[in-house]
Amino acid sequence: MVQFHEGEIAVQVKAGTRGVAEELKRGISDRLDLEFGRNEFFRDLRMVYLAAVDRYGDVWVSEASGEKGFFQAPDPNTLQVDVSNDYLLHGDPVREIFEEQSDTQVGVLAIDFDKRRRYRTNGQFLATKSTNGKVAVRVAEAFPNCPKYIQRRSIVGKRDTSGNQVLSGVQLPKEAIAMIQKADTLVFGTRNPRTGADVNLRGGNPGFVRVPSSSEIMWPEYRGNGMFNSSGNLEVDHHAGLLFIDYEGSGNILQVVGEASSDWDPQETFEGSTRAIRFRVKKFRLYTGSEPYEWKLNAFSDYNPVVAGHDQTGDRAGPFPVQVKLVKVVKESDSVSTFRFLAPRPVKFLPGQYASFDFQIAELGDFTRTWTLSETANSTTRGDVTLEISVKRKPGGVISNWLHDKAELGMEVTLTGIGGDLSPFIDVDEKTRKIALISGGVGITPMMAILRGLRAFGSDSDVVFAHSERHEKDRPFGGELDRRASTDEHLRLIRTVTDSSETLVDNRARGRITKQLLEPELADDPTSWTVYLCGPDRFMTEVSTALIEIGVPSKNLNTEAFNF
Ligand SMILES: Cc1cc2nc3c(=O)[nH]c(=O)nc-3n(C[C@H](O)[C@H](O)[C@H](O)COP(=O)(O)OP(=O)(O)OC[C@H]3O[C@@H](n4cnc5c(N)ncnc54)[C@H](O)[C@@H]3O)c2cc1C
Repeated sequence: MVQFHEGEIAVQVKAGTRGVAEELKRGISDRLDLEFGRNEFFRDLRMVYLAAVDRYGDVWVSEASGEKGFFQAPDPNTLQVDVSNDYLLHGDPVREIFEEQSDTQVGVLAIDFDKRRRYRTNGQFLATKSTNGKVAVRVAEAFPNCPKYIQRRSIVGKRDTSGNQVLSGVQLPKEAIAMIQKADTLVFGTRNPRTGADVNLRGGNPGFVRVPSSSEIMWPEYRGNGMFNSSGNLEVDHHAGLLFIDYEGSGNILQVVGEASSDWDPQETFEGSTRAIRFRVKKFRLYTGSEPYEWKLNAFSDYNPVVAGHDQTGDRAGPFPVQVKLVKVVKESDSVSTFRFLAPRPVKFLPGQYASFDFQIAELGDFTRTWTLSETANSTTRGDVTLEISVKRKPGGVISNWLHDKAELGMEVTLTGIGGDLSPFIDVDEKTRKIALISGGVGITPMMAILRGLRAFGSDSDVVFAHSERHEKDRPFGGELDRRASTDEHLRLIRTVTDSSETLVDNRARGRITKQLLEPELADDPTSWTVYLCGPDRFMTEVSTALIEIGVPSKNLNTEAFNF
């Protein structure tokens, strides 16, 4: 089991996230998790970010690029980068580091901006000497990160990078300052005392990064997963590196190395954060017009806190945070109730997406929690002022039980943002395909939202809805599903009860959702099905395996785990 180092622990203690961090640590692994189409995710990438440490201890962050397939995971212990073509910039110090040192520790951040998926390999990758034009990277630590603060953008073409120039120095020139001041994304490299270079992303609305002087950069640290890997590294080693890319504009790429530290009480004010990182510039390299791709910005992340001067209205869900008021509670089953909130303005989202809420409860403290939003009539168009979540009591859970037992109508909570990509509505073609919605326990909530959304949208695509509960008394939405199935000839239901002592009602099956149950529904043409899957880890592994055995391509599997 991976252990946090002293710097990470120190920051977790200071921020009060020690318990959550220990819980989330289970997601860090010493090997790649290649389930759920992650191999395809790697193979489809045309760029990844790398960080490596030079002989002076400076952390350089760089972009490696190539045709689809240049980055692959042949097995869970290995990443492979094709270096036969120009995969790094000319004059890039990372290239030099690789040439000078045959075994170098590198950090790798694999990211699909458009799908808001990232997979971070928390430092300790060991690049061995190039064979067959490929650099093998032996994996030591790896984990997926949440999609918060990732702006959706996609590659729309290749850029002509001929005639580019490199400018270097120690004080940021005005072109570099202007570029930083309008950036919505920065790639942040730090040094992990155990595993070498570490690399991750910071995102926000343009203007979230400030440049107080030509030798100083600062940005707010927005609420993350509470593990504080990068900030923890800075506690024990101030070396850090930054990469900025002017994606949609000039294509300029800026590398900056220097020293950074957390400022827990900055004089400057930032919306959405009370902590900032201060970065002292030591050196920079500016490569004009060198980004190999043309990009298109599709949407800013709805999690991005407000930045003065940035118009947040556009086509996004609107500015957050928003205070919402509890107006109704409906019991759905013994353990699940639906909570309806009223917002002061319409909120837009896609069926299957989730919302995060901040709770400030006098007797308990401050908490952030996330729940799937139920579908509403105008959620994908102009938005609605009513928002619903269906919450299951978690045994021993602080907020789920508080909501069930203590929350009073009229109370207010803070809606901090909306996110998630478990939705056929992200890709328009998906709505017309055959769709299997498979869930265990309260993982049913995004499936209900998707089903309601599909039908509200007028799609009559074939839907198989499979849901497994341990006890029938905990099953929410049973009546609604029965009603829908009785009038919807394109909807097929599979419902199971796993408790072996229970008497089965209606057409329930006994046990887990198995290959035998799914095969008759999907086997005719398994490649034509798109699957959405949500439930406990073991459930997802078992069902994914069954689906792949039936012949559903792993790239057609979309999953969400209810843990952050
Ligand atoms: C994308 C997503 C969608 C979900 N949808 C639903 C749903 O529709 N219905 C439902 O009943 N449950 C849902 N969950 C699970 C739910 O968020 C909580 O885990 C659950 O309600 C327990 O809260 P608690 O305070 O009672 O438990 P506790 O055990 O007191 O709290 C721990 C839980 O808090 C969550 N948490 C900790 N830190 C953060 C953070 N920074 N941001 C967000 N969450 C954090 C973790 O998930 C963890 O399980 C969803 C979770 C996710 C990640």
